[in-house]
Amino acid sequence: MRDGVGSREHATAASGDRGPFAVSSHPMTIVAVFNQKGGVGKTTTALNLLAGIAQRGQRPLGIDLDPQAHLSHVFGVQPRLADDTMFGFFARQRPLAEIGAISQSGVVICPAHMELAKLDAMLGKGVNVVTRLRHALRAPDAVPGPVVIDCCPLLNVLSLNAIFACDLVLIPVSADYLALQGAKEVERALNALEPVFKQRLPRRYLITRFDMRRRMSAEVMQEVGKSFRSEEVLVTRIRENVKLAESPAAGLDVFRHAPDSRGAHDYSTLIDELVGAGYIR
Ligand code: ADP
Ligand code: MG
Repeated sequence: MRDGVGSREHATAASGDRGPFAVSSHPMTIVAVFNQKGGVGKTTTALNLLAGIAQRGQRPLGIDLDPQAHLSHVFGVQPRLADDTMFGFFARQRPLAEIGAISQSGVVICPAHMELAKLDAMLGKGVNVVTRLRHALRAPDAVPGPVVIDCCPLLNVLSLNAIFACDLVLIPVSADYLALQGAKEVERALNALEPVFKQRLPRRYLITRFDMRRRMSAEVMQEVGKSFRSEEVLVTRIRENVKLAESPAAGLDVFRHAPDSRGAHDYSTLIDELVGAGYIR
Protein backbone atom coordinates (compact mmCIF):
# COMPACT_ATOMS: atom_id res chain seq x y z
CA MET A 1 0.00 0.00 0.00
CA ARG A 2 1.34 3.38 -0.98
CA ASP A 3 -0.28 5.68 1.51
CA GLY A 4 2.37 8.36 1.44
CA VAL A 5 2.42 10.18 4.72
CA GLY A 6 -1.28 10.80 4.60
CA SER A 7 -2.38 14.39 4.63
CA ARG A 8 0.71 15.66 6.37
CA GLU A 9 2.65 17.79 4.00
CA HIS A 10 6.39 17.81 3.83
CA ALA A 11 7.83 20.93 2.33
CA THR A 12 11.30 20.89 0.84
CA ALA A 13 11.76 24.64 0.87
CA ALA A 14 14.42 26.22 3.05
CA SER A 15 12.95 28.20 5.89
CA GLY A 16 13.30 31.90 5.29
CA ASP A 17 16.59 33.69 5.36
CA ARG A 18 18.23 31.91 8.29
CA GLY A 19 21.62 30.48 7.46
CA PRO A 20 21.76 26.97 6.07
CA PHE A 21 22.72 25.48 9.45
CA ALA A 22 20.32 27.54 11.55
CA VAL A 23 18.47 25.41 14.07
CA SER A 24 14.77 25.84 13.57
CA SER A 25 12.52 24.69 16.36
CA HIS A 26 10.99 21.37 15.45
CA PRO A 27 8.92 19.14 17.68
CA MET A 28 10.37 15.75 16.70
CA THR A 29 13.82 14.30 16.95
CA ILE A 30 16.00 13.19 14.11
CA VAL A 31 18.53 10.43 14.75
CA ALA A 32 21.14 9.51 12.13
CA VAL A 33 22.61 6.01 12.55
CA PHE A 34 26.11 6.18 11.13
CA ASN A 35 29.48 4.46 11.19
CA GLN A 36 32.03 4.43 8.37
CA LYS A 37 32.41 0.68 8.92
CA GLY A 38 29.86 -1.75 7.43
CA GLY A 39 28.33 -4.64 9.34
CA VAL A 40 28.38 -2.93 12.77
CA GLY A 41 24.61 -2.98 13.34
CA LYS A 42 23.45 0.30 11.75
CA THR A 43 20.49 -1.20 9.93
CA THR A 44 19.62 -3.52 12.83
CA THR A 45 19.61 -0.49 15.13
CA ALA A 46 17.57 1.73 12.76
CA LEU A 47 15.07 -1.07 12.18
CA ASN A 48 14.47 -1.87 15.82
CA LEU A 49 14.47 1.75 16.98
CA LEU A 50 11.77 2.52 14.42
CA ALA A 51 9.74 -0.59 15.23
CA GLY A 52 10.08 -0.04 18.99
CA ILE A 53 8.98 3.58 18.71
CA ALA A 54 5.99 2.53 16.57
CA GLN A 55 5.04 -0.08 19.19
CA ARG A 56 4.91 2.67 21.78
CA GLY A 57 2.20 4.41 19.79
CA GLN A 58 4.05 6.94 17.66
CA ARG A 59 4.37 6.89 13.90
CA PRO A 60 8.08 7.30 13.21
CA LEU A 61 9.63 8.05 9.85
CA GLY A 62 12.49 5.85 8.64
CA ILE A 63 14.73 7.20 5.92
CA ASP A 64 16.91 4.68 4.11
CA LEU A 65 20.04 6.31 2.70
CA ASP A 66 21.95 3.11 1.96
CA PRO A 67 21.86 2.12 -1.75
CA GLN A 68 21.78 -1.49 -0.55
CA ALA A 69 18.26 -0.73 0.73
CA HIS A 70 18.28 -3.35 3.50
CA LEU A 71 16.03 -1.29 5.75
CA SER A 72 13.51 -0.75 2.94
CA HIS A 73 13.63 -4.46 2.21
CA VAL A 74 12.86 -5.53 5.78
CA PHE A 75 9.96 -3.08 5.94
CA GLY A 76 8.68 -4.47 2.63
CA VAL A 77 8.92 -1.14 0.79
CA GLN A 78 10.89 -1.55 -2.44
CA PRO A 79 9.70 0.60 -5.33
CA ARG A 80 11.02 -0.47 -8.71
CA LEU A 81 11.48 3.09 -9.96
CA ALA A 82 14.34 5.09 -8.50
CA ASP A 83 12.18 8.23 -8.70
CA ASP A 84 9.82 6.76 -6.09
CA THR A 85 12.65 6.51 -3.54
CA MET A 86 15.08 8.87 -1.82
CA PHE A 87 16.77 9.11 -5.21
CA GLY A 88 13.71 11.04 -6.43
CA PHE A 89 13.98 13.33 -3.41
CA PHE A 90 17.63 14.20 -4.13
CA ALA A 91 17.72 14.07 -7.92
CA ARG A 92 14.21 15.28 -8.80
CA GLN A 93 13.26 17.35 -5.73
CA ARG A 94 10.30 15.10 -4.97
CA PRO A 95 8.72 15.83 -1.58
CA LEU A 96 9.22 13.19 1.14
CA ALA A 97 5.44 12.89 1.46
CA GLU A 98 5.27 11.49 -2.06
CA ILE A 99 8.01 8.95 -1.36
CA GLY A 100 6.99 7.75 2.10
CA ALA A 101 5.01 4.53 2.32
CA ILE A 102 3.55 2.99 5.43
CA SER A 103 4.84 -0.44 6.40
CA GLN A 104 2.99 -3.17 8.25
CA SER A 105 4.81 -2.32 11.45
CA GLY A 106 3.37 1.20 11.43
CA VAL A 107 6.58 2.89 10.35
CA VAL A 108 6.54 5.33 7.44
CA ILE A 109 9.52 4.49 5.29
CA CYS A 110 11.20 6.59 2.62
CA PRO A 111 13.00 3.80 0.79
CA ALA A 112 16.42 3.62 -0.81
CA HIS A 113 17.38 2.47 -4.31
CA MET A 114 20.61 1.29 -5.92
CA GLU A 115 20.67 4.52 -7.95
CA LEU A 116 21.44 6.46 -4.74
CA ALA A 117 25.06 5.42 -5.27
CA LYS A 118 25.21 7.78 -8.26
CA LEU A 119 24.29 10.91 -6.33
CA ASP A 120 27.82 11.93 -5.34
CA ALA A 121 28.81 12.19 -8.97
CA MET A 122 25.52 13.87 -9.92
CA LEU A 123 25.21 16.44 -7.14
CA GLY A 124 28.62 17.17 -5.62
CA LYS A 125 28.84 18.31 -1.99
CA GLY A 126 27.79 21.99 -2.11
CA VAL A 127 26.05 23.51 0.91
CA ASN A 128 22.68 23.48 -0.84
CA VAL A 129 23.08 19.81 -1.62
CA VAL A 130 24.18 18.60 1.82
CA THR A 131 21.44 20.56 3.64
CA ARG A 132 18.58 19.40 1.45
CA LEU A 133 17.30 16.75 3.87
CA ARG A 134 17.70 19.12 6.81
CA HIS A 135 15.47 21.70 5.17
CA ALA A 136 12.83 19.11 4.25
CA LEU A 137 12.72 17.59 7.75
CA ARG A 138 12.83 20.91 9.58
CA ALA A 139 10.27 22.74 7.47
CA PRO A 140 7.45 24.12 9.66
CA ASP A 141 4.95 21.57 8.36
CA ALA A 142 7.30 18.58 8.33
CA VAL A 143 6.70 15.22 9.99
CA PRO A 144 5.60 15.38 13.63
CA GLY A 145 7.05 12.01 14.69
CA PRO A 146 10.61 10.91 15.42
CA VAL A 147 12.85 10.31 12.41
CA VAL A 148 15.56 7.63 12.15
CA ILE A 149 17.98 7.69 9.23
CA ASP A 150 19.90 4.55 8.23
CA CYS A 151 23.18 5.61 6.62
CA CYS A 152 25.60 3.80 4.34
CA PRO A 153 29.18 3.17 5.49
CA LEU A 154 30.69 6.10 3.56
CA LEU A 155 31.01 9.77 4.37
CA ASN A 156 29.33 10.68 1.08
CA VAL A 157 26.70 13.23 0.12
CA LEU A 158 23.98 11.01 1.63
CA SER A 159 25.66 10.62 5.02
CA LEU A 160 26.46 14.34 5.07
CA ASN A 161 22.77 15.04 4.47
CA ALA A 162 21.92 12.79 7.44
CA ILE A 163 24.53 14.41 9.71
CA PHE A 164 23.45 17.93 8.79
CA ALA A 165 19.78 17.03 9.29
CA CYS A 166 19.96 15.23 12.62
CA ASP A 167 19.78 16.16 16.30
CA LEU A 168 21.84 13.13 17.26
CA VAL A 169 24.37 10.96 15.48
CA LEU A 170 24.04 7.43 16.86
CA ILE A 171 27.19 5.42 16.17
CA PRO A 172 26.89 1.65 16.55
CA VAL A 173 30.22 0.04 17.41
CA SER A 174 30.12 -3.74 17.18
CA ALA A 175 32.51 -5.22 19.70
CA ASP A 176 35.45 -5.72 17.34
CA TYR A 177 38.53 -3.72 16.37
CA LEU A 178 37.52 -2.63 12.87
CA ALA A 179 34.21 -1.27 14.12
CA LEU A 180 36.16 0.67 16.73
CA GLN A 181 38.43 2.09 14.02
CA GLY A 182 35.33 3.11 12.05
CA ALA A 183 33.93 4.85 15.13
CA LYS A 184 37.18 6.76 15.64
CA GLU A 185 36.94 7.95 12.03
CA VAL A 186 33.39 9.13 12.71
CA GLU A 187 34.63 11.02 15.78
CA ARG A 188 37.28 12.77 13.66
CA ALA A 189 34.81 13.53 10.86
CA LEU A 190 32.26 15.00 13.28
CA ASN A 191 34.93 17.09 14.96
CA ALA A 192 36.08 18.37 11.57
CA LEU A 193 32.52 19.55 10.87
CA GLU A 194 32.28 21.45 14.15
CA PRO A 195 33.40 24.84 12.76
CA VAL A 196 30.48 24.64 10.32
CA PHE A 197 27.93 24.06 13.11
CA LYS A 198 29.74 26.23 15.67
CA GLN A 199 28.95 23.63 18.32
CA ARG A 200 29.87 20.08 19.25
CA LEU A 201 27.62 17.80 17.23
CA PRO A 202 25.55 15.65 19.60
CA ARG A 203 26.62 12.02 19.32
CA ARG A 204 26.23 8.76 21.21
CA TYR A 205 28.26 5.59 20.78
CA LEU A 206 26.31 2.33 21.07
CA ILE A 207 28.12 -0.94 21.71
CA THR A 208 26.50 -3.70 19.68
CA ARG A 209 27.08 -7.44 19.32
CA PHE A 210 28.48 -7.45 22.84
CA ASP A 211 29.41 -10.87 24.18
CA MET A 212 30.72 -11.05 27.72
CA ARG A 213 32.34 -14.42 27.07
CA ARG A 214 34.65 -12.99 24.42
CA ARG A 215 37.79 -11.27 25.57
CA MET A 216 37.65 -8.98 22.55
CA SER A 217 34.35 -7.52 23.78
CA ALA A 218 35.94 -6.51 27.07
CA GLU A 219 38.99 -5.09 25.30
CA VAL A 220 36.88 -3.07 22.89
CA MET A 221 34.86 -1.72 25.84
CA GLN A 222 38.07 -0.59 27.49
CA GLU A 223 39.28 1.07 24.30
CA VAL A 224 35.89 2.79 23.85
CA GLY A 225 36.31 4.17 27.36
CA LYS A 226 39.66 5.66 26.40
CA SER A 227 38.71 6.93 22.94
CA PHE A 228 35.40 8.68 23.53
CA ARG A 229 33.88 10.99 26.12
CA SER A 230 32.19 8.84 28.74
CA GLU A 231 28.98 10.89 28.60
CA GLU A 232 28.79 10.14 24.88
CA VAL A 233 28.87 6.36 25.30
CA LEU A 234 25.41 4.94 25.89
CA VAL A 235 24.91 2.84 29.01
CA THR A 236 22.77 0.38 27.06
CA ARG A 237 24.72 -2.32 25.25
CA ILE A 238 23.18 -4.49 22.56
CA ARG A 239 24.22 -8.06 23.21
CA GLU A 240 25.02 -10.62 20.55
CA ASN A 241 21.66 -12.25 19.92
CA VAL A 242 20.71 -14.63 17.15
CA LYS A 243 17.11 -13.37 17.09
CA LEU A 244 18.38 -9.97 15.96
CA ALA A 245 20.20 -11.59 13.06
CA GLU A 246 17.25 -13.83 12.15
CA SER A 247 14.40 -11.36 12.17
CA PRO A 248 15.22 -9.45 8.92
CA ALA A 249 15.11 -12.68 6.94
CA ALA A 250 11.52 -13.07 8.15
CA GLY A 251 10.81 -9.46 7.14
CA LEU A 252 10.33 -8.57 10.80
CA ASP A 253 11.76 -6.42 13.54
CA VAL A 254 12.89 -8.20 16.69
CA PHE A 255 9.82 -7.12 18.69
CA ARG A 256 7.51 -8.97 16.35
CA HIS A 257 9.90 -11.84 15.64
CA ALA A 258 10.96 -12.64 19.20
CA PRO A 259 9.39 -10.26 21.75
CA ASP A 260 10.92 -12.13 24.70
CA SER A 261 14.44 -12.23 23.31
CA ARG A 262 17.48 -10.44 24.68
CA GLY A 263 17.54 -8.47 21.42
CA ALA A 264 14.04 -7.10 22.03
CA HIS A 265 14.94 -6.35 25.63
CA ASP A 266 18.14 -4.50 24.71
CA TYR A 267 16.59 -2.37 21.98
CA SER A 268 13.69 -1.51 24.29
CA THR A 269 16.22 -0.43 26.93
CA LEU A 270 17.99 1.67 24.28
CA ILE A 271 14.74 3.47 23.45
CA ASP A 272 14.19 4.10 27.20
CA GLU A 273 17.67 5.58 27.45
CA LEU A 274 17.19 7.84 24.42
CA VAL A 275 13.76 8.94 25.68
CA GLY A 276 15.25 9.62 29.12
CA ALA A 277 17.98 11.76 27.56
CA GLY A 278 15.37 13.70 25.54
CA TYR A 279 16.58 12.40 22.20
CA ILE A 280 13.29 10.71 21.38
CA ARG A 281 10.24 12.77 22.14
P1 ADP B 1 25.28 -2.44 9.04
O1 ADP B 1 23.96 -1.84 8.70
O2 ADP B 1 26.11 -1.57 9.92
O3 ADP B 1 26.03 -2.90 7.83
P2 ADP B 1 23.74 -4.68 10.07
O4 ADP B 1 22.74 -4.09 10.99
O5 ADP B 1 23.26 -5.07 8.71
O6 ADP B 1 25.01 -3.74 9.94
O7 ADP B 1 24.39 -5.92 10.82
C1 ADP B 1 25.37 -6.73 10.20
C2 ADP B 1 25.08 -8.19 10.49
O8 ADP B 1 25.17 -8.43 11.88
C3 ADP B 1 23.67 -8.60 10.09
O9 ADP B 1 23.70 -9.89 9.59
C4 ADP B 1 22.89 -8.52 11.39
O10 ADP B 1 21.80 -9.39 11.41
C5 ADP B 1 23.95 -8.92 12.39
N1 ADP B 1 23.75 -8.32 13.72
C6 ADP B 1 23.64 -7.01 14.02
N2 ADP B 1 23.51 -6.82 15.34
C7 ADP B 1 23.53 -8.05 15.90
C8 ADP B 1 23.46 -8.54 17.27
N3 ADP B 1 23.34 -7.72 18.31
N4 ADP B 1 23.55 -9.88 17.46
C9 ADP B 1 23.70 -10.73 16.42
N5 ADP B 1 23.77 -10.34 15.14
C10 ADP B 1 23.70 -9.02 14.87
MG1 MG C 1 23.16 -1.35 6.83
